Amino acid sequence: MKEFLKRHSASVSVLVILLVSLYFWQPGPNAIAITEFGGATMGTSYSVKVVEESSSSSVDLLAREVSEILRVLDKEVMSTYSEDSELTAINAAPINEQIMLSGAMSDVLSLALEINALTDGAFDVTVGPLVNRWGFGPEQRHQSRIPDQAEIDAIAARVGSQYLDLDATAATLVKRADVYIDLSGIAKGYAVDQLAHYLDERGYASYFIEVGGELRIKGYKPGEQTWVPAIETPADTAPQVHNIFYAKGESIAVAGSGDYRNYFDLDGVHYSHEIDPATGRPVTHNLAAVYVIDASAARADALATAFMVLGTQRGFELARSIGLAAYFISKREAQEGFDDLYTSQFAHYLSID
Ligand code: ADP
Ligand code: MG
Repeated sequence: MKEFLKRHSASVSVLVILLVSLYFWQPGPNAIAITEFGGATMGTSYSVKVVEESSSSSVDLLAREVSEILRVLDKEVMSTYSEDSELTAINAAPINEQIMLSGAMSDVLSLALEINALTDGAFDVTVGPLVNRWGFGPEQRHQSRIPDQAEIDAIAARVGSQYLDLDATAATLVKRADVYIDLSGIAKGYAVDQLAHYLDERGYASYFIEVGGELRIKGYKPGEQTWVPAIETPADTAPQVHNIFYAKGESIAVAGSGDYRNYFDLDGVHYSHEIDPATGRPVTHNLAAVYVIDASAARADALATAFMVLGTQRGFELARSIGLAAYFISKREAQEGFDDLYTSQFAHYLSID
């Protein structure tokens, strides 16, 4: 039996879905089954599948606890849409004053700064004001979507991770400029990691977690079959399978990023929702989508966003130099179709053996 994991529509300018799951499952004679539940979070949807003895009565509790973990991470911690979130308070806080952070916020910012350094600034959670000005954030603008250079320069003056003075040990932050933080490029991955920790602690040896297209996979489906996620063809059409890969029982995270579900076209230019912090502008190169496999979904999420900014060549060089499993899909210049480029670490997942 073939089945596609349900797709989400790209919702109000925040999240793009890149992965569909294709899986084959024949119910066997044993009583091991897949229990599945899901819902809405972070402007998109989530779904969790756990493999366990069937007729477990704890599913409702599990589903409620997962939903609560996500509600807290979204509404209370990382959302810029929520007026009561910790992030909204941080963004509103005065500069040069010490802000106490929750453990989750401290962890996310610490990883965000690490990936900022690793990607030479391509991943930068302070791009928020630019994201908003280009019409991809919570502030919908009625003026022209295209700012002029003087306006970009003015906004860019408050963009830069060097303005985030984080003490991760003490869990404190001092903003050295009037920064506005946007965690959309890392939050879903972080949420997936938190759910994986939760399921690990409860002893689940096999699961498939997905939040807005970012995944954590562990173990096998019933019948010792590998999970088989699919890479979607990077086109704003009904989902089509571009390629598939095999989790092979390993515990892996997968994150994707792309320019084809959240973008606008104007005067023949394709503006993607990834902003290059170096130029203050949306990226317009021909990298259509990128997928990263890593132990951490938050790290994979942030790196996938960074690669969209860096483009195929620089992204691939970086992935190769750090030994990362990454898969790049570029639009061909003159003709129809795509060119795929992946590191040897990703090739490992493309064959079943
Ligand atoms: P998706 O939401 O499709 O999974 P990403 O993980 O790539 O996509 O996140 C894209 C979002 O991250 C954008 O909508 C924006 O809010 C934010 N963003 C854009 N450019 C950057 C950047 N250079 N660094 C960090 N975050 C960014
Ligand atoms: Mg991302």
